[in-house]
Amino acid sequence: MKIIADLHTHTTFSHGKGSVYDNVTTAMIRGLQAVAIADHGPRSAPWVGASINAFRRMIAEVRNLDRRTMGLKVLAGAECNITSARGHLDLPLEIRAQLDIVLAGLHPGILPRSGKDWLALTGANWYAKVNPGYRKRARVANTRAVIEAVLRNDIDVVTHPGYHLDIDTVELARACAFRNTALEINARHHEMTAEFCRLAAAEGARFVINSDAHAPDAVGNVARGLAVARAAGLGPEQVLNLEGGGLFEWLRQKRGRSQWAEWSEQRPLDQTGQGRTGRQERTGRQPSYYTDWANQGKIH
Ligand SMILES: [Zn+2]
Ligand SMILES: [Zn+2]
Repeated sequence: MKIIADLHTHTTFSHGKGSVYDNVTTAMIRGLQAVAIADHGPRSAPWVGASINAFRRMIAEVRNLDRRTMGLKVLAGAECNITSARGHLDLPLEIRAQLDIVLAGLHPGILPRSGKDWLALTGANWYAKVNPGYRKRARVANTRAVIEAVLRNDIDVVTHPGYHLDIDTVELARACAFRNTALEINARHHEMTAEFCRLAAAEGARFVINSDAHAPDAVGNVARGLAVARAAGLGPEQVLNLEGGGLFEWLRQKRGRSQWAEWSEQRPLDQTGQGRTGRQERTGRQPSYYTDWANQGKIH
């Protein structure tokens, strides 16, 4: 098994060590067909994220290089932060619409959208560390934020699910399968285990394996991710950026659906939380955030 593209690499636009040119050079040497520059969104811890203007410069640099790299597609991307309990991203639609690929993930060190969001995300996870009784609530908050992000936005890949912040992979996998959003098997972090992958695949989710390179020599370095995929019994039917996984076709499909993005910007989707918990308690069935939401007619 071999990947044809590394869709998650960082540069000095955020806190990577090399330039766009450096990452592209390594990708060429390693024989990849595509590499994405996906730097951190602006609301990462202050000294880490790329500003909106930096994204504009990055996109221009990528377009310029892409014209000169025969056999290698250079993609302009971002690793957006999920900055609210309702799944807001930290890059405006104006920038996301110009990107070839949008990644998004939960990170512990971010500037949330508001004080309330800080409490619901960062605060809840900190508190869960000292009070184990609170862990379940933090997990529900994390899961809800990522699922809302997937349903409301134009996300192609959810990066490193479970990294530092506990999350219900099965619930997330259902939403991702519905939205044709890939889950990332991140070769740098170790949270996506073979068991998680098996559970997510059973829900119909698909995957990409990425290096999350923060230095040019790590571009295309996905041995650990490949090992996880192999152990989970995944092949090109489930892993989009493997040889024969249909990556470019999937990317084309994904870029052609901006109506979702516009819809999500305009409609508040966060008013469904109240009754759900009560109903789950009454019926005693397994809580399923995504299916409950779908059953309420919020998704068509
Ligand atoms: Zn990340
Ligand atoms: Zn990253």
